[in-house]
Amino acid sequence: MSKKVLLSGVKPTGKVSIANYFGAMKQFVDLANEYESYIFIADYHALNFIQNKKEMQENITDILLDYLAIGLDPKNVTLFKQSDILEHTELAWIFDTITTVPYLERAHAYKDAMAKGKEVNVGTFNYPMLMAADILLYSPDVVPVGQDQKQHVEYARDTAQKFNRIFGETFKLPKEIIMKDRENIPGLDGRKMSKSYNNTIPLFAEYEEIKKCVMSIVTDSGEGIPKNVYAIHKLVRDEKELEKIYAEKTGKYKELKELLIEDLEKFIAPMREKRKEFAKDIPKALAILKAGGEKAKKVAEVKMEEVREKIGVKIY
Ligand code: AMP
Repeated sequence: MSKKVLLSGVKPTGKVSIANYFGAMKQFVDLANEYESYIFIADYHALNFIQNKKEMQENITDILLDYLAIGLDPKNVTLFKQSDILEHTELAWIFDTITTVPYLERAHAYKDAMAKGKEVNVGTFNYPMLMAADILLYSPDVVPVGQDQKQHVEYARDTAQKFNRIFGETFKLPKEIIMKDRENIPGLDGRKMSKSYNNTIPLFAEYEEIKKCVMSIVTDSGEGIPKNVYAIHKLVRDEKELEKIYAEKTGKYKELKELLIEDLEKFIAPMREKRKEFAKDIPKALAILKAGGEKAKKVAEVKMEEVREKIGVKIY
């Protein structure tokens, strides 16, 4: 029996954080053997944020090294770059034509950007349609993501249903997988950990950087248990053990932070070293990405031919 299909991706918009890892990327590794996996670099999504050639190039290479360092093995995971497969943007356009403006206006990411009084570009508004295309081209059964991407997977499902209704059964309906208790990992200031809040712990941080980050975690006095420290700590140490330690060290915030620094270092150091090894041979890493793109393209091409046929533009 053939394996079920998994697809997910990350935007190359800067250093990956421990929230990206524990909220989403860890699942890519944990599920890689169980599913036929497609993991991509969402560079055309990142273009909404990164409009600088050098930065874009560096970010793409960085996330590729991150993928390899967390343990995604090109032997059983197809790693590719969104922009290598033109079918993504082609299908996004087709989805645009069957989607209404009020529907996209309900998207959280768009509403958040509007609420911040930002001038929203069309790419941000249109984001859910490109993401629907990213997903539906590969007919995945599951899409592991963090909580903040749940709505986008719902949009992909809605869009698949709408297309199927208009043009006939074409797309499989994907389902998100969100890790329990990892829905909203808090950052150093207690708000959601996010690059845009500048409150992250980088996944591949050096020891000194880990120390600096942890020491700056905002602690709320009064309860005796610094809940922001605890919320991050439970990612890297068993909760039963932690409960005991935190009960014994009530009010001793500095000691608890020092323990968190050591636990984070123990967890991060092996991956950080692995990443340095991969970084020694960038051409080899890029060859993996290129080959993955060629493999993914074959899948996308077949789906796209079916789509062109269904909508009536394929006349020879
Ligand atoms: P992005 O950088 O937006 O492409 O995010 C990569 C993945 O990390 C997505 O699946 C997000 O949902 C997930 N993610 C981002 N921030 C958090 C957070 N604070 N807690 C849990 N998951 C997160």
